[in-house]
Amino acid sequence: MKKRKAVFLDRDGTILVHEPYLSSPDQLSLLPNAAEGIRLFKKHGYLVIVVTNQSGIARGLFDEERLMLIHKKMMGMLENEGANIDGLYYCPHHTEGIIERYKIDCDCRKPKPGMFLDAARRHRIDLSQSIMIGDSEVDMLAGKNAGCKSVLVRNGCAGDAGIVPVMNMDYVVKDLLEAAKIFTCKGKA
Ligand SMILES: [Mg+2]
Ligand SMILES: [Zn+2]
Repeated sequence: MKKRKAVFLDRDGTILVHEPYLSSPDQLSLLPNAAEGIRLFKKHGYLVIVVTNQSGIARGLFDEERLMLIHKKMMGMLENEGANIDGLYYCPHHTEGIIERYKIDCDCRKPKPGMFLDAARRHRIDLSQSIMIGDSEVDMLAGKNAGCKSVLVRNGCAGDAGIVPVMNMDYVVKDLLEAAKIFTCKGKA
């Protein structure tokens, strides 16, 4: 069976408006064109997988149960716009956490590629044909480490003012729709 291509998406600042340590489903709002971009990728055969670092769990700011509620709400909001997610992976760990069982040097926290490798096994993904889209340097490096192309969205941490300089990306876009257009229009990318 042929392997699939996938688009890996960061959550905060890429799909959702960035809220530091977002901890309540009430705080969620989708970024402009996020759902439309996801729809376009899916229409062209890409699996859509969310990969998100959630060290707020290790830091004791919220628990996994709360995170499930947030993700359920996000998936629902996207589904309402016809943008279904095929998989969602999160890393709850951090070496400086305060909750003992999450205080580890794991293999999944971006820029490590653990979440990508798990998803690739489970969904039979060809990582060399896949794309990572995010708003931070860590996302760009994670994409590279997983063997994907990296695309920077300039609407989150790395806003237009260039507050945080980012390198290691292959493309820079303003939102997910622009990214989807680059990779789904014939003759490009
Ligand atoms: Mg982000
Ligand atoms: Zn982890």
